[in-house]
Amino acid sequence: MRSVTEILQQTDRTLFSFEVLPPLRGKSIEQIYGTIDRLLPFDPAFIEVTTHRSDFVYKEVGNGQYQRVEERLRPGTVAIAYAIRQKYDVPVVPHVICSGYSQQETEYELLDLSFLDLKDLLVLRGDKSKQDARFIPKEGGLRYASELCEQINRFNQGLLLFGEQHELCGERPFSYGVAGYPEKHEEAMSMASDLRALKRKVELGAGYVVTQMFFDNEKYFQFVERCREAGINVPIVPGLKPLGTLNHCTALPRTFRVDFPEELANRLEKCRTNEDVKAVGTEWCIRQCRELKSRDVPCLHFYTMNAATQIEHIMKEV
Ligand code: FAD
Repeated sequence: MRSVTEILQQTDRTLFSFEVLPPLRGKSIEQIYGTIDRLLPFDPAFIEVTTHRSDFVYKEVGNGQYQRVEERLRPGTVAIAYAIRQKYDVPVVPHVICSGYSQQETEYELLDLSFLDLKDLLVLRGDKSKQDARFIPKEGGLRYASELCEQINRFNQGLLLFGEQHELCGERPFSYGVAGYPEKHEEAMSMASDLRALKRKVELGAGYVVTQMFFDNEKYFQFVERCREAGINVPIVPGLKPLGTLNHCTALPRTFRVDFPEELANRLEKCRTNEDVKAVGTEWCIRQCRELKSRDVPCLHFYTMNAATQIEHIMKEV
């Protein structure tokens, strides 16, 4: 099987891919299979599986008392990635993150992934803890995705954390993509500094970039242009999220620091129900996809977030 980097670097048409989230702790994997079954007819080039750090939550323990416990709301990324590959024989890309992991824990995860021959990764810093105002690495953990790229590169050379050798498994080492932000990462001091951070990740070996969601294609095109000027020459895969609920209209700009273009904002302001938003969001996403495809982007990558039916509809139109 070719690596996802090779697939994206060698394609001469616009591919399709999507991301799934592991189920909430205690829920079954069947919902993910349901999403994949719907989207499989569109021949996904790869499927990504997100990773979620643990966080502190308060659990009721009886008598009106609560206990503060550390909990991973969506565990199981590695197992889910493996299960998907076994069931569908599609390249799968588990996300690996710094957030909430020590370097040793990351190394154990890399060993698991290596034993399972899951060699395509998306390398990320990961979201900050919900209780922190800014990102704080776990003790013994990493600060930036670039440092995680370096850890993976050393692993690929057969070196563990303290310089011990390990036996490489499978036919090839890990290959990976990284995240990019057409509207700048929220913490970056400037677009230029954010691009320097992205370039560093590419110089370390990232074979492609997947972007944060955006709703204005011009922002993506400008981002690609600025990346090329900065010497970032790997495929840049646009990330797409069809709007589907009234909550999306305020939550997505707030959570992902993205702007809606005026025309879209005006149309959303008139929506009164989730169905209204879904109709506008679907039409907008189809427009985005058609234009991106006409400009020969390497792949249309969807953040599914339980919107398989909506994405199925969009893909039929595109
Ligand atoms: P980095 O590349 O480390 O950048 C983080 C910030 O630090 C940026 O502002 C950058 O400019 C700056 N920076 C980088 N290097 C340096 C340096 N050396 N010195 C100074 N500043 C620096 N989150 C999850 O928790 N799980 C997921 O599965 C997940 N999947 C995602 C998938 C995609 C496609 C995208 C776009 C995001 C995803 N995220 C996920 C969210 C992501 O982890 C957050 O946006 C996070 O805040 C930044 O991650 P990053 O990998 O871009 O970080």
